[in-house]
Amino acid sequence: ESYLTRLRLTEPHLKSFLHVSDAVSQQAHCLDGKIARNEEVGPLAGVLVGVKDNICTVDMPSTGGSRVLDGYRPPFDATAVRKIKELGGIVVGKTNLDEFGMGSTTEASAFQVTANPWDVSRVPGGSSGGSAAAVSARQCVVSLGSDTGGSVRQPASFCGVVGLKPTYGRVSRYGLMAYASSLDVIGCFGSSVADTGILLRVISGHDRLDATSSKREVPDFASQFASINLLESKPLKGLRVGLIRQTLDDGVDSGVVSLIRGAASHLEELGCSVTEISLPSFSLGLPAYYVLASSESSSNLSRYDGVRYGNQAAVDELNSLYGDSRAKGFGPEVKRRILMGTYALSAGYYDAYYKRAQQVRTLVRKSFKAALDQNDILVSPAAPSAAYKIGEKKDDPLAMYAGDIMTVNVNLAGLPALVLPCGFVEGGVAGLPVGIQMIGAAFDEVLKILIAIDIL
Ligand code: GLN
Repeated sequence: ESYLTRLRLTEPHLKSFLHVSDAVSQQAHCLDGKIARNEEVGPLAGVLVGVKDNICTVDMPSTGGSRVLDGYRPPFDATAVRKIKELGGIVVGKTNLDEFGMGSTTEASAFQVTANPWDVSRVPGGSSGGSAAAVSARQCVVSLGSDTGGSVRQPASFCGVVGLKPTYGRVSRYGLMAYASSLDVIGCFGSSVADTGILLRVISGHDRLDATSSKREVPDFASQFASINLLESKPLKGLRVGLIRQTLDDGVDSGVVSLIRGAASHLEELGCSVTEISLPSFSLGLPAYYVLASSESSSNLSRYDGVRYGNQAAVDELNSLYGDSRAKGFGPEVKRRILMGTYALSAGYYDAYYKRAQQVRTLVRKSFKAALDQNDILVSPAAPSAAYKIGEKKDDPLAMYAGDIMTVNVNLAGLPALVLPCGFVEGGVAGLPVGIQMIGAAFDEVLKILIAIDIL
């Protein structure tokens, strides 16, 4: 109830949610009844979970932040949502996002702009800005987001919460509206690594409804860390940490760089061996990502034709029906991506753009693999700056894209990464939060270590 009160008081200022459930109290009472009758309730019993609105929920609208799906109510729950509900979690509402996940601020939502709880004149990041703001403002305990190129990690950094992008394939994508299928993953937000780990455990695992979901066993991320002795003076002795040099170069806010370096020295004090490493292909990731993500999205979004889902333009002739429904339904950023993607995939340009971007992707994947053979975790900022003002980059798509430099490589390589708050830079009312990104090897979410770092 305290979360619901918080939600009621803060939501008019933040606008994190596109839809708030009216069944929360009733579901909570139902759980209370079960507990009173000594019936079994799941480990998430009564935990309020926010769900990004590009993740399907059967009893609430799911718009993906797009007019094309205004009013759409899916006839099914996404697998991640089903699992949360089965274990007693309560979906408190659907959170705001950039349309279909395309953006870095939530300003590309067709419905509203979410404010950053640390300073409401600033963006919460994106595209999962609503989910990050909701956890940051304690409107819910944990939340789900999606991360195609950084959409969980960058908003976690901007809003001062923990954000986790799992390994590609760790969590079923069934019910996640596809943006770029080879990069998309559902991720988690929480106010501690342990909370985030519990949520990850719940939603992970093979799903026959998603052929790319992995059959690997799901470890108990949150309880694994018991083996680390937090009372020792160097509890993280032996942990090899690689600090990625290219992420601390010019173009990155000096306040951010000093916080990351400060965190690295702290890791050293805790016993880690920290070395600065070079990933020469790092800067190639950004252009490759935008070619690949746009290409895949231009294909994925062809399903919104005004016939199968959502809104339909009032015309009789079939081609105009497609054209009008899409022209009215999609916002400018989505149209830009469809145009870029269609161009990159067209016969005359395929080799120059799409094929080349795939080659770069292989290069990026290999360089991360080599770096992670030498190190247990790679470290970088989660974004080149703290949260900026609403409107500041809205009309400059290239500046907006450039802000994704820290995160996109991790998606190209399919790796897990966690963002943890590591301090504040000047700005806003009383400082703005900054997150450190920690990248692990595939299927090694290294949460054991990260939980320890969180506690230390
Ligand atoms: N900002 C990036 C983009 O617009 C990443 C988005 C995401 O991860 N969904 O593509």
